[in-house]
Amino acid sequence: MQEKLNLLRELQEIDQELAQAAAVRQGFEDESQGLTAEQDRVQVMADELLAQLDVLQQDLAQLRQQQGIETDQIKKAESRLPAIQTQKEYVAVLKEIDMAKKTCLETQTQISEINKQIDELEADLAEKNTSLDIMKKQTAARGKEIEALLSENEQKISARRATRESLAKDLPKSLLSKYQRIFARREGLALVGVAEGACCGCHMQLPPQQYNQLHRGTELQSCPHCNRLLYMD
Ligand SMILES: [Zn+2]
Repeated sequence: MQEKLNLLRELQEIDQELAQAAAVRQGFEDESQGLTAEQDRVQVMADELLAQLDVLQQDLAQLRQQQGIETDQIKKAESRLPAIQTQKEYVAVLKEIDMAKKTCLETQTQISEINKQIDELEADLAEKNTSLDIMKKQTAARGKEIEALLSENEQKISARRATRESLAKDLPKSLLSKYQRIFARREGLALVGVAEGACCGCHMQLPPQQYNQLHRGTELQSCPHCNRLLYMD
């Protein structure tokens, strides 16, 4: 029995290392995903700004075209003035010019407003693009580091797995599966020592009779409280 327990202790040590290596891998994968997600988030914002800019540029082009037409109307009306014969008609054309100039001025105000918005968006976009460049460089650099660390971790995992398999081969199947069940259920601690008559897993006192049996070391003992397998040093 002692020999099997020693094998199990060795196995548990490897399983704990493997669990830790898996957690390390998960950590690196999460970090990698986090970096990519943050970059994607800024990229989406930059794309949205670009789309808004596109709409504003179209509005601006339309307003400029409109302004051209309005300026032409003013010029045409002004050119008619010298040939006008009557005071009434003169006043009417002046009024027409005045109205057209007002409209033209309103268009100019809209154009200025849009130009202001475009400037703001372009500044915002430039800022986002700078951030993106920095992020891409950082993500790529850290990505390489993570890749190296992951591959190192993976090598460690596969080496330990090989050792584990050869150890597991020497254990009875029923004992191995019992151990694995408890390992999964008891947060990676299936096999524990006994100190001062108590289980080192749950720290509950063991019945004196079981304590004596443990001392004899003839059969496998489980803690009656947490079900972990017990060994005596
Ligand atoms: Zn216990």
